[in-house]
Amino acid sequence: MEIWKRYSEKEVSHSMAHYLQTVALLKAEKGHARVGDIAEHLGVSKSGVTSMLRSLEKRGFVRHERYGCVELTNEGSGFASRTESSRRVLSMFLTEILGVPEDVATEDACMIEHLVSPEVSVELLRLTTFMRSKHPAAALFRDAYRTSPRSCKEHEPGACDLCGATCLRDSLITPIGRALQRA
Ligand SMILES: [Zn+2]
Ligand SMILES: [Zn+2]
Repeated sequence: MEIWKRYSEKEVSHSMAHYLQTVALLKAEKGHARVGDIAEHLGVSKSGVTSMLRSLEKRGFVRHERYGCVELTNEGSGFASRTESSRRVLSMFLTEILGVPEDVATEDACMIEHLVSPEVSVELLRLTTFMRSKHPAAALFRDAYRTSPRSCKEHEPGACDLCGATCLRDSLITPIGRALQRA
């Protein structure tokens, strides 16, 4: 099956990911997660929480217990903590290695935290840890990278085989690129 089709089949929505993280957080902070607390934490209505919990229950991520308490299943708590760690790793990679401004990094990390595979997260963590280390090769890389070309224009025309017809970098300063960035 094509990747995008397979992907939409197992898709866990962004809000599902945040509900699961919220349940995990409330459990850790208060010892329990009630519908009312989840609603307050996420700034949504209690009926919204109830209907989302029904979908999460159907997918085997939570158990809705008596007295309005919500418990994560093993799968649910695994997903919540994986998403949480992925966000932290992505955020550190984007700010400290790529040098992206913090607000952009925070937003991007939040948007892809639940989509990135564990394999990619683990390797990003490994790379980030190495690059921030005192290893002499890491220091050399940081220096060389800082001054490396930022646009295809800085090397020969057509030499960039990763970019499409328009250099990725240049596409960001077209009106469409700007609109996308602001959206
Ligand atoms: Zn998010
Ligand atoms: Zn390019």
